Amino acid sequence: MIRPLAAGIYSFLPFGYRMIKKVCEIIRREMDAIGGQEFHLPALNPKEIWEKTGRVEAFGDILFHVKNRDYVLAPTHEEIIAEIAANHVKSYRDLPQIWYQIQTKFRNEPRPRSGVIRGRQFLMKDSYSLDRDWEGLDKSYELHAEAYRKIFSACKLKFFEVGASSGAMGGTGSQEFMVESEAGEDTCVICDNCGYAANVEIAKANSTPYKRDDNSESLKEIHTPNVKTIDELAEFLKIPTTKCAKSRVYIHNDTPFLVLMLGNDEVNEEKLRIALGAGKIRPAHPEELSEITGADAGSIGPIETNLQIIADIKLKGANNMVSGANKNDYHISGIDFDRDLSNIKYYDIHYVQEGDLCVNCKSPLRVVKAIELGHIFKLGTKYSEALGAKFLDEKGEEHPIVMGSYGIGVERIIACLIEQNHDEKGIIWPKEIAPFQVHLIGVNMKNDEIRSTCEKLYFEMNESDIEVLYDDREDVSAGYKFNDADLIGIPLQVIVGEKNLAKNKVEIKYRATGNKKLVEIGLLIRTLQDELFLP
Ligand code: ATP
Ligand code: MG
Repeated sequence: MIRPLAAGIYSFLPFGYRMIKKVCEIIRREMDAIGGQEFHLPALNPKEIWEKTGRVEAFGDILFHVKNRDYVLAPTHEEIIAEIAANHVKSYRDLPQIWYQIQTKFRNEPRPRSGVIRGRQFLMKDSYSLDRDWEGLDKSYELHAEAYRKIFSACKLKFFEVGASSGAMGGTGSQEFMVESEAGEDTCVICDNCGYAANVEIAKANSTPYKRDDNSESLKEIHTPNVKTIDELAEFLKIPTTKCAKSRVYIHNDTPFLVLMLGNDEVNEEKLRIALGAGKIRPAHPEELSEITGADAGSIGPIETNLQIIADIKLKGANNMVSGANKNDYHISGIDFDRDLSNIKYYDIHYVQEGDLCVNCKSPLRVVKAIELGHIFKLGTKYSEALGAKFLDEKGEEHPIVMGSYGIGVERIIACLIEQNHDEKGIIWPKEIAPFQVHLIGVNMKNDEIRSTCEKLYFEMNESDIEVLYDDREDVSAGYKFNDADLIGIPLQVIVGEKNLAKNKVEIKYRATGNKKLVEIGLLIRTLQDELFLP
């Protein structure tokens, strides 16, 4: 299907390229159905236009520069679309528009890996919506979301949708289409029962309230020499880790604050950032710690501190907890969060874990690795303003065009399809989307009757619009051909062998199940058409 040329750069060979063409056909059909118009934009771009939007800097090392000329190789095409819009869209009457293309993109990915899943040169379907206002953008965005669902369904992929981290962008104007796969670089949380799905950076779970002990002990300082981690603390005191509160110091703008987590829970910094709203957050450096708290990491805690405390929601109401004493080699036991901590706010700032319960339906959640297939994004006016893409409204007033941007990785679709459809023998293409529909195998091509039957069937299949790959090799054994057929995974195999031919029959083998059946030669074409739902 493919051949690597250099790190992250692949040649598509005829078999693989057939798949590319099939996927592109599906994408085109659905993009045209929402009113999209197909473009073909240059990959070689004057650097100047990318400077206007500040993206030479934003892309940094990812952007390929052409030596000795002020050109770059386009990693995406917002700039070029905005440039065309600036020259061709004049009035509100020209809007809305959906412009798309399927074209090669260049990104100098620092770690190209997993084959075509992260390449340095790859095919993207990218589309851009142009609207007069945000309501219009909402519509274009929804049209794309619906088209994407149709495209991935037509490609027979099991996918799920997640709202991406709103992060610095704000709002909910971004969504990713994901496929569960060990080869993925994203981590997502999925509920198989109700369909809730989110990137682990922002995923929520139904948090059970902390089970308080009946009696609250009083505070007590304990000498804990060389005890640094939660595991060491639990081991030293012979208590469960869920009786320990982990303390971390963060800096919000310039102000330090204390973060408390239950046991070994890690701080989810994206959730923390969202909880605190605006501003910059970073963990305090080790050398800042003793100045801020009086102790080093491992002995920091919430008692006798003036710091604002942000605690994870799981700690709300906890008592008889142990945490650092803000004095090296000491901890404090008997901490009652309700009684002892006043300057405290609670937020959900933990990572969802496998088995936590769904926020919507309380079913157990799964944490999975996933590959991003597509991304839809409400851009707004950033690019139209930078490149002067404006229109006149009914009153003759000028406004920037409101843009959306929508991408799909074409090779990733094919890679994910194989990830989801294979066994130990090879690929199992779904019959709806396969490089070929039928694999015709002549068992012994030196036998004249087999050869002439195969050739007749090959001709008839082509006449009937059945896409057929014909294995007419003379010099390999039948077993070898069968293994190759299973490896490349075409859904239906038609096997022409001596014994069956004597009865005027051939065998159909279903790649997915391994089941076989004998068919009268005269009925073969009709049978294949029925299997493939062809008219
Ligand atoms: P990622 O987080 O995986 O790097 P991205 O957020 O950079 O993706 P976009 O800029 O939104 O991706 O591009 C749109 C689509 O293009 C992605 O959803 C993905 O399917 C595809 N894509 C992006 N980068 C690559 C790559 N290096 N190789 C192959 N496909 C890619
Ligand atoms: Mg990327």
